[in-house]
Amino acid sequence: MRGLFRSGKMDVSDIVQYLYCPRKLYFLKIAGIRISKPKMEEGKAAQEEARGKLRSFARKLKGELLTSVYLESKRYGLKGVLDALVIVDGGAFPVDVKLTRFQSITYAWKMQLTAYALLVEENYAVEVRKGYLFLLNQGKFVEVSISPDDRKALLRIIKEIERLIEEEKYPRTSKSKKCGYCEVREFCV
Ligand code: SF4
Repeated sequence: MRGLFRSGKMDVSDIVQYLYCPRKLYFLKIAGIRISKPKMEEGKAAQEEARGKLRSFARKLKGELLTSVYLESKRYGLKGVLDALVIVDGGAFPVDVKLTRFQSITYAWKMQLTAYALLVEENYAVEVRKGYLFLLNQGKFVEVSISPDDRKALLRIIKEIERLIEEEKYPRTSKSKKCGYCEVREFCV
């Protein structure tokens, strides 16, 4: 199973894809469908623009700003590149940058931040109780708490993904409005 993940570790983005739709992750990880990532490129350019705001935010928190932080966890078999990390005295706050016009925080984003929290804790030996989503289009930072229940939920999701990869079963799922935006919809029957 591990070999299906490049470098043998699950990427935080795999969790986001799984929560979008388990079948989408099946196509990407088992069927080997590749998708172009225009949104990611757009995201990178936007992240450049965001650096000034991230710097001010870190100053406000009296912390040190790190950007594009690569993190790995041996314990959870997880890896990912975090957009920004603010290190403060006795703690750290992961920050994920989002290009969205919506105000609401999705469950996938919360789980994504929770995954980064686990990675930061293991790599920096600090406790992470909250993180932030930086909604770039709105210039707004939204605080997201990370509770013990969120951690448990994330670990359950990681197990489900491992099972999906191991069993290679085509996941059942119901069509939804997400299908209209899905990059693998042409393969999905
Ligand atoms: S088209 Fe719909 S059901 Fe198929 S993978 Fe995408 S989101 Fe899932």
